[in-house]
Amino acid sequence: MNITRTQPDEFPIIRYRCCTCGGTGVDSLGDTCADCDGTGAENHGA
Ligand SMILES: [Zn+2]
Repeated sequence: MNITRTQPDEFPIIRYRCCTCGGTGVDSLGDTCADCDGTGAENHGA
């Protein structure tokens, strides 16, 4: 079956990538990023 994708590839709704973890949700030590709480999105509440 040939499925034709009519919708363009779009990124998930991420308003701003967390600059601390780069949007991965994991910091450089492999722990959950404390800045975005692991969401990968910048949290302006900090
Ligand atoms: Zn982060």
